[in-house]
Amino acid sequence: MKVTLLGTGSPLPSATCAGPSSLVQAGGLNLLVDTGRGVIMRLIGAMVPPPLVSAVLLTHLHSDHITDLNDVITTRWISSPAATPLPIYGPVGTKKMVDGLVSMLSQDEGYRLEHHDDLRAAGGMKVEVHELNAGESFTIGDVKISVHETDHRPVAPTIGFRFEHDGKVAALAGDTIPCQGLYDMCQSADIYVQTVLREDLVRAFAPLVPTGDRFLDILDYHSTVQQAGQTAAKCNVKTLLLTHFVPAIQPGQEDEWRAMAAEHFSGEIVIGPDLTFVEK
Ligand SMILES: [Zn+2]
Ligand SMILES: [Zn+2]
Repeated sequence: MKVTLLGTGSPLPSATCAGPSSLVQAGGLNLLVDTGRGVIMRLIGAMVPPPLVSAVLLTHLHSDHITDLNDVITTRWISSPAATPLPIYGPVGTKKMVDGLVSMLSQDEGYRLEHHDDLRAAGGMKVEVHELNAGESFTIGDVKISVHETDHRPVAPTIGFRFEHDGKVAALAGDTIPCQGLYDMCQSADIYVQTVLREDLVRAFAPLVPTGDRFLDILDYHSTVQQAGQTAAKCNVKTLLLTHFVPAIQPGQEDEWRAMAAEHFSGEIVIGPDLTFVEK
């Protein structure tokens, strides 16, 4: 099982970090968890052409996690030799969002159907939306996926995914503070991916930006680096993979971030730029 951080960024624009998105590869599948800014560029960087995306799984519907889903839908469709519907799994609300995207894309779809005989014969762009609730589990190919409630309130519902294949487990949390659903999802995982922020830096930056008070609200509903370390230790995971850096990590700062998690967790901590991966 391999987990690649396609984008390690957040809503804050960065010249180097794409938006939140991770790639889980297991059982011959390419499972895309969230589809942030630049996801298609990073998929190519990970040597996965868009037609090879098996499914998209969304942790929640915050813009930074879905902003390039339209690009995934379109690019996969127009570069696939056969008409293979794109399965999209996500929390309740995903269907409404995807219906809106498909509507937004309808004029482009029309141009392409008019232009390409084979696309027209295949019947157009297809997506299959599956709305999920915490407590459910399902399979894609040989990969078992269980759905767990996370706590990103006031954003709700939000979910995380536990992937199991061939005796290996990867838990991808999305945006959340520590909570029971997160603990259940991460228990004894080989790989635990957590979106994080640095509270000290957020508090230091807030007075410097015109929307400082709004910026501070971000502290309400994200795990800090230290909390990610605490969750990793509590759940006895093997490797903690940090992502969704708020603010973006400056070159050379990695050890500082790692040390904050290591105060609480003695296992392996992986932190790095886009396309950093862990394989078990
Ligand atoms: Zn986010
Ligand atoms: Zn969020």
